[in-house]
Amino acid sequence: MKRNVRYTVIIPVYNEEAVIQESYHRLTRVMQSTGEPYELLFINDGSGDRTAEFIEGFAERDECVKLLDFSRNFGHQIAITAGMDYALGDAIVIIDADLQDPPELIPQMIEKWKEGYEVVYAMRSQRKGETLFKKWTAAFFYRLLGALAEVKIPPDTGDFRLIDRKVCDAMHSIREKNRFVRGLVSWVGFRQTAIEYVREERYAGETKYPLKKMLRFSMDGITSFSYKPLKLATYLGFVVSFASFVYLLISLGEKIFTASTTAGWSSLIACLMLLNGVILILFGIIGEYIGRIYDETKDRPLYILRNKQKIEKVKLKEVKWSVQ
Ligand code: UDP
Ligand code: MG
Repeated sequence: MKRNVRYTVIIPVYNEEAVIQESYHRLTRVMQSTGEPYELLFINDGSGDRTAEFIEGFAERDECVKLLDFSRNFGHQIAITAGMDYALGDAIVIIDADLQDPPELIPQMIEKWKEGYEVVYAMRSQRKGETLFKKWTAAFFYRLLGALAEVKIPPDTGDFRLIDRKVCDAMHSIREKNRFVRGLVSWVGFRQTAIEYVREERYAGETKYPLKKMLRFSMDGITSFSYKPLKLATYLGFVVSFASFVYLLISLGEKIFTASTTAGWSSLIACLMLLNGVILILFGIIGEYIGRIYDETKDRPLYILRNKQKIEKVKLKEVKWSVQ
């Protein structure tokens, strides 16, 4: 099949009816300014509102618009992956629908790509309109990940980035289930560079990342890229054994050299509680890894499309890309 799309923009959407029109217009304006053929590939991640209807409406009028419709909510990272699977462009841009990542930055990314960089990621120099809690936890998470991860994952960087066709093809070979896409892009390598930007406020609507999803996402990041939490058991084991041995010597000394030995009931309970707590935490960490191994062995598909036929037709037919 002849590839006649220069740029693909991947936009995952989940209940974004409040912003979708504005994002479509801004993206279209920016992409038309490039003067080259492009596609806007929306992935509807099981929205319960009118998001898909809006996109179908755009697609009727504008053949640059395509829609991948998930059968349910599979999650942001899976939606991006599906976008990469179906993208036709020579360069692929991943962007959030809520306009926190300004589309106007895309031409700058394209410029860097034309200079020869294969990954151009956008680094947040400032985050606007997000709660202190989100800013602090995000800052902490990126620092922790930096300390633990075996590959270098740039801090304060989301999935807003441009990747070359080669990187996209390399990503196809990675089919792990609990995906931390920004880490995987670092893992595949290639020539990477950054541009800085100010992360804007959400244009409208609420965040689709409640605390539970955020925690799961950060756990995926850490467990996919580091075994160090598992090693914690060994280190803690040594420390606790050493401390217990010292404590044993002290109590023996008290018993032999002093007349009064303390009853020791409360200290015993305290030690037991502490140790049980530590053991449970370590079990939990091991559980996180085992759960992910379980997901891999089940080997389910990453996502299910509601209307697969439609997109296959789009993939096969020769589309005349209109650049107005
Ligand atoms: N999103 C998605 N599936 C989800 C959650 C989010 O496709 O389960 C999309 C969402 O529509 C948006 C992007 O992922 O385009 C980022 O989500 P959001 O802006 O809510 O996250 P935040 O910026 O608050 O971290
Ligand atoms: Mg957002």
